[in-house]
This record gives sequence, structure tokens and C-alpha cells, in this order.
Amino acid sequence: MGKQNCFLSKFRYINGVKCLKLAWYECNNPKMIPPPDELTEAVFSWGRFIGEKAKAFYPEGEENTEKDFKRHLEKSKKWLARRIPLFEAAFMADNLYARPDIIVPAGDDGWDIVEVKCNTQIHEVNVRDIAYQRFVLEHAGLKIGKCFLMHPKPGVKAARGMPAADIFVQEDVTARTEAFLAEIIDNVAKIRSACALDCEPDIAHGEQCVKPYRCPLYDWCHCDAGQMAAENWDFLAEQAKEMIMLNNSVEKLIKLATEYAVDDLETVAINSLQKAQQCARHSSDYCDIALAYHELKLDANAAVDCLDHAKELAKLPVEFAEIKRVEKQIKQRDRT
Ligand code: SF4
Repeated sequence: MGKQNCFLSKFRYINGVKCLKLAWYECNNPKMIPPPDELTEAVFSWGRFIGEKAKAFYPEGEENTEKDFKRHLEKSKKWLARRIPLFEAAFMADNLYARPDIIVPAGDDGWDIVEVKCNTQIHEVNVRDIAYQRFVLEHAGLKIGKCFLMHPKPGVKAARGMPAADIFVQEDVTARTEAFLAEIIDNVAKIRSACALDCEPDIAHGEQCVKPYRCPLYDWCHCDAGQMAAENWDFLAEQAKEMIMLNNSVEKLIKLATEYAVDDLETVAINSLQKAQQCARHSSDYCDIALAYHELKLDANAAVDCLDHAKELAKLPVEFAEIKRVEKQIKQRDRT
């Protein structure tokens, strides 16, 4: 099964809607995504505490604790016949995976989804999240009745020993899931197409980098590669080679090459520029790369090749003017 139909969990789906570049990294190079920091860990830990508390709402419920992925899915399906609330039951349809916190029998053969959140207010992303779960469960053959978001009441400080009924409120968001359901097929197609690319998609920085949560790739994505090379030499020595092979930002690759074009790291610099050549799409990209080859005194023939490519792609007078300018610059330096 290729990346065109790659596995998507709820987490990947939500991240993919946030940013296709983030989805690409999760699918193709997850090592680049740093582990959660202390603050995020603390939020996760609070979420686990709240999740455990919420189960007390359904004392007759049972948790699927099976560790093996396939057996977990099989057991979840089998347990549907028991008609009791199920915690952490997982379902899959078209390689889309969902594991709602709680599903509760509704009517003769239906199920309600209850997703537990640790914040006291509902955000759009929470509704999108439960809409995805509903989509997957319905496509896996379950009849879904209502969707509830269960979260601590505003102003209540949940503590150990406190009854669940005093802590939580359940909000029916079934109607609100409709709009998000309608976008899922398109979103999944976009995310899968992005994941199937050889290089990361070119996504501009924007609000999505910090909303509704700060992107885990924020530091990498916003760094100035040249500055990082100077300040975080060890980090780059380990990570940059990988990035050079995967990153499609011509500008960033040229910056990396500039930093590496010293001593024994010359090979890395050349690799950077070669990779930049593969990723180049425009006449101006090739001009920049040609100039970099020349300025860094790396490969004169490669610089000429790049200018030839630039000429092939150029259509506008301004592009031809740029090529002439670079050619002149290179010739002048050759003479000196
Ligand atoms: S930092 Fe912004 S652009 Fe970069 S991957 Fe994250 S959301 Fe996307």
C-alpha cells in the first residue's frame, strides 16, 4: 500500500489539516519531530488523569487494553456485541484509524461517541477531532447516534477522590460535526497527496504555526539555517544531512551549503547544492544555485549547467536579464 493511501490516525489527520508540511514530516521523516517538552508532557499527564476520571461516569464500562495493534482492532469489533460502554475501542476504515475515548450503546444497535477533553471550553479543533472519529466509525460499519465532548466544568478544580459527576459536563456536538464531516474526504486526499511527495511541500509560515497549538516543528521551520549552522553545529551535523536529502527549500539548501563550504564539510555543501538543483523549479532558482557554486568555489561546471537550465526555463525578459547578470558576475570573478 503506497503513500497515496497512507495510514492516518486522528492525530495525523488533525495535524495534516493544520499543515501539510507537518503531515509530510510525520509520514516521511518523523525523527525530525522533537519529543514533547515539559509543558506538553504536563498537559498529557493532566489529560491522562482526566481521562481516567471520566471512565467513572460509566462504571459498567470496560477498557480494551490489548497492546497488539491488530488484536486490539479485532477485540474492539468483537466487543461491540456486548453492548456495554467501551473505553479505547479502535476501528479502521480505508486505512483511517480512530480510537475514541468512550463509545456508549445507544438504542438497539447504535453507539454514541464520548470524547474526553481536559480543557474547560470546547474549541473548533475538538469538534473536528470527534467528527473524524465519527467518520471512521461510520465507515467501519457502526451506527453512530450522538457525539459528546466531555470536559471539566469551568471553575472546577478536579482532584483525586472527587466524584466524576461533580467534575464533568457533557456537551452534545452532533450537529456541529456535520460541517467537519463534509470536509474529511477532501482533507484526507490532500494529506495523502502531500505525504506521497518526494520533498516536503512548500508551505508558507502563518497562523497555523501557532494555532490552535504551537507546531512541534516550529523551531526547525522558522530557523535561519545559516545561523543554526553557526550556533548548533552538532545539531546540524546530525540532522542536516538528512534534511539535505529531504528538504525542498532551495533557499534553505543554499544557506546550508554556504555554512558547510569549509574544510572537510565541503561534500555536505556540494550535496546541498545538488539537492537544491533537484528541487529547483524556476529559472531564478537555477541562477541562485549557479551563483552559490561559483561563490563557494565548489564546482564550476555545475554552475554552467545551472545557468543552462535557467535559460531553458526563462520566459520573461526579467529572467533573461537576471541570467545575464549572473553570467557576467561569474565571468568577472573568473578573470580576477
Ligand atoms: S511551523 Fe508552520 S509551516 Fe512549519 S510545519 Fe509547522 S505549521 Fe507548517
